Amino acid sequence: MVVRLAGDALAGAILHRIDALALPVAHTAVGASPGFDAADVLLLAQQPVGFAWREPARGFPVADGAHLALLAFIDAVTAVIAPCFVAVILGRSLPGEAGKGGNGNSGAGDKAFDVIHLDSFRVRVNKQAVRHACTTAIDRYPADIVLVKNCERREGPTKSGWAPTIVAMISREPTLERLAVARSLLLDPFGLTDETVANALKTIAAHRIDDADLYFQYTRSEGWSLEEGIVKSGNFGIDQGVGVRAVAGEKTAFAYSDDISEAALLDAARTVRSIAAAGQSLSVKVPSSPKVAGTRVLYAPTDPIATLDSSQKVALLERVEKLARAKDPRVKQVMAGVAAEYDVVLIARADGTLAADVRPLVRLSITVIAEQTIGGAVRREIGSGGGGGRFGLGYFQQDIIEQYVNDAVNAALTNLEARPAKAGEMSVVLGPGWPGVLLHEAVGHGLEGDFNRKGSSAFSGRIGQRVAAKGVTVLDDGTLPDRRGSLNVDDEGNASQRNVLIEDGILKGYIQDAMNARLMGVAPTGNGRRESYAAVPMPRMTNTYMLGGDKTKEEIIGSLKRGLYATNFGGGQVDITSGKFVFSASEAFWVENGKIQYPVKGATIIGNGPDALTRVSMIGNDMKLDTGVGVCGKEGQSVPVGVGQPTLRIDRLTVGGTA
Ligand SMILES: [Zn+2]
Repeated sequence: MVVRLAGDALAGAILHRIDALALPVAHTAVGASPGFDAADVLLLAQQPVGFAWREPARGFPVADGAHLALLAFIDAVTAVIAPCFVAVILGRSLPGEAGKGGNGNSGAGDKAFDVIHLDSFRVRVNKQAVRHACTTAIDRYPADIVLVKNCERREGPTKSGWAPTIVAMISREPTLERLAVARSLLLDPFGLTDETVANALKTIAAHRIDDADLYFQYTRSEGWSLEEGIVKSGNFGIDQGVGVRAVAGEKTAFAYSDDISEAALLDAARTVRSIAAAGQSLSVKVPSSPKVAGTRVLYAPTDPIATLDSSQKVALLERVEKLARAKDPRVKQVMAGVAAEYDVVLIARADGTLAADVRPLVRLSITVIAEQTIGGAVRREIGSGGGGGRFGLGYFQQDIIEQYVNDAVNAALTNLEARPAKAGEMSVVLGPGWPGVLLHEAVGHGLEGDFNRKGSSAFSGRIGQRVAAKGVTVLDDGTLPDRRGSLNVDDEGNASQRNVLIEDGILKGYIQDAMNARLMGVAPTGNGRRESYAAVPMPRMTNTYMLGGDKTKEEIIGSLKRGLYATNFGGGQVDITSGKFVFSASEAFWVENGKIQYPVKGATIIGNGPDALTRVSMIGNDMKLDTGVGVCGKEGQSVPVGVGQPTLRIDRLTVGGTA
């Protein structure tokens, strides 16, 4: 969280804040501060390495957790602000940190702390820089709270003469931290308070309604692209606003404004409450003090746009191009793009619940065009690759970039050799990972609560029935760390969940938002999503995938007498009511007698979702999630999603070909 405090407001506000966090040791830290007379950075770590242990992927070596993390923190601070005075209060006796700091106990209540003064570094400090450094550092260093203090340099410091200014305070308590970030961006600058928010909800609830919510959103996005060797700083955008919704029965009234103000909020509230006239619905009571919704911690509250500077973004795209061209002389054109988004939302619900999320999202994409001349005829083919997720741009290290480049170049080169696809009814083997988009289209949309409540899905009324072959288990899981489709809390303030939709072939449940769940008499599943504050929530997928089985990829391909092996897909479409889908394969091979014969081009797969699932005859042991590129569209609203599946054999699908 960021608290801007000045002068005497400091101590009281911090202590109050710290009390709220139940970090008693912080009192000691503040109290022990008189010795600090320059820019201080206090890093209070209460249960620190716990984060490092649980999230080794974040980047510190587990064996040396606290020590290296501390060095990383100091690095980050000093790199950005040049030498400064850094004091770090570091928790010791950290869980699992055997052999470090002389006390390897893992007692949870242990409150031993060290103060480390690095007073050889003293310099004037740029507040922005400190804040940036600490935001970066806290992502790498698992502290509960970071206090950055910018103090006047004084001769002969004394307790009474010490007058620090807190420029940033970053809490590691994730739910509170996100709420504080959201308040600082969405309420404070516009003079809004919890009371204003409660008043708006009360205004709506003056009529009889079933539900209401306010959705505040701040989004900053940036995109860079490379084409014909030239990097363009493309779009940079900031959008913010508030959506106000009242729900009565099946009716939704919605108003939104890109002006966040008390007047706009109350105006929207009065507009939407007018729909409620008819209902015999319950009246919603808005409590006077908000309660904080439980949320998950699936990704760091990073602003990914700030994780690389402009020259690094340019260099990243240039590296992608260079790698792609170096892979094969037939690569004639390279297009690449890097996009980053920082999305902060605050949801106030009619029952007085407040929820917030800070959602980073990045994506690197590459498209190559390969060309070769055979017998005087020039042939050009396209291939693409890429990926991303909810983290900073630092994720795109050499090995990841190489993987994306390989995907793109290999696809283009494969397609240069491709022959026309054969048409007809045949068995099809789908590759792992992104081909799960077929599952998303053919099954996922059909399991969304709105279609099923209205009875318009091919899966309507079929809970408890067999809808797929034995062994087929399909999940929609919004709780996967760092994944593109994951959410700490959905856009209606409900925590995301791991929902089993189909288990061993039996339909178990649907994907629900709050309204459809209420109307169908079930609990929401954490799938209420919206494109922005200007759109109403709907039941939407998060990360949808099929669990793996026991067959190897070789066994599955080896079993194919005559059929298609599709490893990548372009677009697809589904008709929810009939369940019919059409997909075009962007990378596919013809298989005969269990052996891959040659690549084919122009294959489309046509089928019926519920039917296709019953014809799954082999399930691979190689379940893979996609690399993080999916966008799902529904009723004009786009949201980021993930898909995944193992290698899969489906019998009797219709393949539309060109041969
Ligand atoms: Zn979709």
